Amino acid sequence: MVLLQISEPGQSPEPHQRRRAVGIDLGTTNSLVATVRSGTPETLPDDKDCHLLPSVVHYAADGTVTVGHDAQSRATEDTLNTLASIKRFMGRGTADVKMLGSQLPYELVAGDSGMPNFRTVAGHVSPVAASAEILRVLADRAESALDGPLDGAVITVPAYFDEAQRQATKDAATLAGIKVLRLLNEPTAAAVAYGLDQGGEGIIAVYDLGGGTFDISILRLSHGVFEVLATGGDSALGGDDFDHAIAEWCCEQAGLGTNLDPGQQRQLMAVARQAKETLADQVEIGITVSGWQGRLDRETLNRLADPLIEKTLRACRRTLRDAELTPKDISAVVMVGGSTRMLRVREVVAETFSREPMVDIDPDCVVAIGAAIQADVLVGNKPGDEMLLLDVIPLSLGLETMGGLMEKIIHRNTTIPVAKAQDFTTYKDGQTAMAIHVLQGERELISDCRSLARFELRGIPPMVAGAAKIRVKFQVDADGLLNVSAKELNSGVEAHIEVKPSYGLNDEEVTRMLRESYTHARDDMQLRALREQQVEADRLYEDLSSAMSQDGRTLLNDKEYHCLEVALADLKQVRDSTSHREIARHIEMVSKTSEEFAARRMNASIKKALAGHSLDELDRDI
Ligand code: ADP
Ligand code: MG
Repeated sequence: MVLLQISEPGQSPEPHQRRRAVGIDLGTTNSLVATVRSGTPETLPDDKDCHLLPSVVHYAADGTVTVGHDAQSRATEDTLNTLASIKRFMGRGTADVKMLGSQLPYELVAGDSGMPNFRTVAGHVSPVAASAEILRVLADRAESALDGPLDGAVITVPAYFDEAQRQATKDAATLAGIKVLRLLNEPTAAAVAYGLDQGGEGIIAVYDLGGGTFDISILRLSHGVFEVLATGGDSALGGDDFDHAIAEWCCEQAGLGTNLDPGQQRQLMAVARQAKETLADQVEIGITVSGWQGRLDRETLNRLADPLIEKTLRACRRTLRDAELTPKDISAVVMVGGSTRMLRVREVVAETFSREPMVDIDPDCVVAIGAAIQADVLVGNKPGDEMLLLDVIPLSLGLETMGGLMEKIIHRNTTIPVAKAQDFTTYKDGQTAMAIHVLQGERELISDCRSLARFELRGIPPMVAGAAKIRVKFQVDADGLLNVSAKELNSGVEAHIEVKPSYGLNDEEVTRMLRESYTHARDDMQLRALREQQVEADRLYEDLSSAMSQDGRTLLNDKEYHCLEVALADLKQVRDSTSHREIARHIEMVSKTSEEFAARRMNASIKKALAGHSLDELDRDI
């Protein structure tokens, strides 16, 4: 495995030639922009000295768009036109967000990209366009702080984002006129912010609990270099869920029904959130909602929070298992995200990993800071340095082979960027085209995997089956985007496709697909063996049938011919059996029975080749 160096943050010798690069943490709840100035990474504030920009966008009837605190303050009175938690919709299909829809007071309409759009008074708005508004505000902030246009940005995404979600994020940046240097996994950015490359050796867990997402990453640090061993998490679990739990508790206590209007709901959520955040410093707080007054203490908060925190721990244990590690192997735990301010979270994480987590850098800013450090290097402000962080892909990538089987080319948890090639061949004589079907998933049958893209390689010169050599190359770039190319090596014809998968795979699906791949592993292996034997049987059947119709009558006597005919008929029948061993046995039998025939055909073709040549000529050639 290649390990790549991570550089130390430092100063450029010629500050006036520095290029303007920023790191942007595009969060579900809050977003931030950071840059490296005078060798020090720092987040940039707005004109009210506020660093966090609430990821909220308001659309007015006259087309005015407001972002951040101003938008947030309109949420209560103009709920339908105030978009929050936009990130949850990025790269998601309509089916995925149905379950979210019931929680969120927006109107969703079908969009043309497959992503649902928000209906606002200013028209339909896509999640990509709304995210672009947030990114633009941050870019403007940075451009005025840095006195000029940006040369590029590193934008962070949850480690669990699939290709569609990453692509949507990139699209949003492009729409905002920002040059994306790279998309970077949030936990990986946090590790960079802590400068953990300066430390010794060990395995680091990055625990990121934000407003809407939870990510856990396991990194190995050795000789100042990071390697991502595994990532996991839950993109539908975060501080918002704690707020919901508190809000429900308030409703119960206050005897409020569940029929609150969207405005009341928002107000209740705001109160719940405020209470939760205050309880990080206080042991008890008074709450007032809809005329009801009560008190929430830390003990009650902990009781409400524990089931949610336990969910994050389950994801941690699963991810450790993926990396074949136990909590004892972890030498440092980095805390990221506003929700890790909750004392209970820190306590339970400390217990789970048997060590105190790192909380020195503001958990809100740590991701943006890491992104800024990397942006500074990528934009070329540190000549001679190269920083490439290694991330992993969450599900295996591969393609369809004969029999409807999934052939994995890049296995899950492989570090990226990565390129892998594998050679394939044609199935039929004279085959001039090949359908390439790109898939994602862990199962053996393509029907159990997710289809990402299809394309065709055409213009293969006609050859006998198995003679063409088609090299299929899978390339996943540092942003996690996939490029597939296919090339016939004898003729040089090629085709390729950049995979922009249909929107719609969420974490639950990833988790489900993984779980199914474990529970069905044995069945899958048997099915795979069966399909392989069936493909083999079909091939033998076709080859032998065509050989018999060409030469059978001339090279075989009646008895031999009949014998082979019977063997073939048998093979055809057994081919549909459910036992791969049975099929294998018949393949072997038929091959044996036809050996003599094959030998005679070989002789006949040699004789034919020799016909017309004199022995002298032959002597010269030998
Ligand atoms: P995201 O990455 O999803 O944008 P952040 O990392 O900004 O989220 O975290 C936002 C979440 O952190 C919100 O749910 C917020 O309520 C929570 N949070 C912020 N401060 C505190 C605190 N003191 N105690 C508990 N939760 C907090
Ligand atoms: Mg975050």
